[in-house]
Amino acid sequence: MTSVEKALFDLPADIVVKDQDIVSKYTTDFRHLYAGRTVAVLRPRSVAEVQLVVRTLAAHGVPVVPQGGNTSYCTAATPNRDGSEVVVSLERLNKVREVDAENLSMTVDAGCVLSDLHDIASENDLMLPLSLGSQQSCQIGGNLSTNAGGIAVVKYGMARELVLGLEAVLPDGSLFSDLNPLRKNNAGYDVKQLFIGGEGTLGIITGTSLKLVRKPRALVTAFLAISDISVLSTLLDRAQRFTGDAVTSFEYVSNSSLDLLLGKRPNLRRPLEEPSDHYVLLEAATSSHLLDLQGAAEALLEEAMSDGLVTDGTVAANEEHRRHFWHLRENIPEGEVLNGGSVKHDVSVRTSRLAAFITEASEIVKSRSNKAILSVYGHVGDGNVHFNVVPPHGAQPAEFKENFEQSVSPLIYSLAARMGGSFSAEYGIGRSKLELLAEFGDPGKIALMRKLKTALDPKGSMNPGKVIP
Ligand SMILES: Cc1cc2nc3c(=O)[nH]c(=O)nc-3n(C[C@H](O)[C@H](O)[C@H](O)COP(=O)(O)OP(=O)(O)OC[C@H]3O[C@@H](n4cnc5c(N)ncnc54)[C@H](O)[C@@H]3O)c2cc1C
Repeated sequence: MTSVEKALFDLPADIVVKDQDIVSKYTTDFRHLYAGRTVAVLRPRSVAEVQLVVRTLAAHGVPVVPQGGNTSYCTAATPNRDGSEVVVSLERLNKVREVDAENLSMTVDAGCVLSDLHDIASENDLMLPLSLGSQQSCQIGGNLSTNAGGIAVVKYGMARELVLGLEAVLPDGSLFSDLNPLRKNNAGYDVKQLFIGGEGTLGIITGTSLKLVRKPRALVTAFLAISDISVLSTLLDRAQRFTGDAVTSFEYVSNSSLDLLLGKRPNLRRPLEEPSDHYVLLEAATSSHLLDLQGAAEALLEEAMSDGLVTDGTVAANEEHRRHFWHLRENIPEGEVLNGGSVKHDVSVRTSRLAAFITEASEIVKSRSNKAILSVYGHVGDGNVHFNVVPPHGAQPAEFKENFEQSVSPLIYSLAARMGGSFSAEYGIGRSKLELLAEFGDPGKIALMRKLKTALDPKGSMNPGKVIP
């Protein structure tokens, strides 16, 4: 008997899935970049069962790969290829433990799907302001483990900023519990922060207390054609001033990204009649029913057009109109997939350097691979741009992407580093960005990460081969 078989023998049979037809969905990542192997997936239903699983696997020296919705963009949630690791899926740990509407908080199991939590907050006239394209399948435990960003970071911050309390099972099976929805709690080190963005390498998050906000009473969404990317930060600043800092989303969409989608989905309408090279999808929200956001947006549009920042634009007239704008933005990744996929660069720089970054990075691509199709878009209100490159028409996508990643991507990352930016704005490190962390990470920080990992997980059994170069 192997160590894995011995460990499985010691666990309740009804939490063990061995059918390889089912197991394969847990061993391949969302983008099909990495196919691992595992003998079994474990699906505990309670915190006590997560502890039992971790303790039992640890006793047999079997490494654990925690998994949420398996939507990671950096192959962080898949096991290795030799079958020695076991996937622990949190999908059955999915209860809402408490909603405290007065305290603007909810305490939930880690396996709750993000969009289900949106619904529950909404039933309480509140909102959980974390929103990403994968929200129908990603889980809150995965969101915290990756410190997810998404479309509302401008106003509400990354996932970390929404966490009040956290509970996690440590690599030896013991429980760390700081699950308290307090806004102020300075009683010792804020240890929970280690698990946020830890990508499952320090323990398994089992529960969290989250901040909620009041549901917006007024919401305004506009699709704007801008004269040039150099106006992005001025326009954001102006939008914040006009709306009283109510901007929740400030998304850049290049026309080439939009064309990739519209070319394959002819049933979708263009957002504005005349095409433009650059667009901004802007949304602002307030919980006050007294503030005239619509008026503020119209005044912004008028002034920005007369100043030449904006060349055309429309404010969504109704919810259907608004959904159409968001549908276009959120389906850009699909447009890329339909055109052979993309080489993704999830870069951030300070907002004041964003336009310069996009311009210089585009020049690098043009000089090295002039037929490659640029697909540039993203949450630029927080300095995050998805600077993606799609294979030229007629090229072999896999071959193009491999060559590009080896020869051009390093130049793009070096540019980001020179501009004081990051090679990983929101997707994390996982397995696929280890070399980038080794190259661009601060050596002192990496050394401290190693010390923390050794202190919490001396046997290296939690999600091995991820995050730490
Ligand atoms: C269409 C699409 C759009 C996306 N848009 C965004 C975006 O806008 N912003 C953004 O930040 N990301 C985005 N992502 C990436 C991804 O959805 C996020 O990283 C998300 O937070 C991952 O959640 P998950 O539940 O799927 O986690 P998984 O992919 O299952 O796991 C991710 C990491 O977290 C660990 N993990 C999962 N659950 C736990 C747990 N309970 N305890 C400890 N570790 C755990 C895993 O081991 C792994 O290291 C997008 C992905 C897709 C497919």
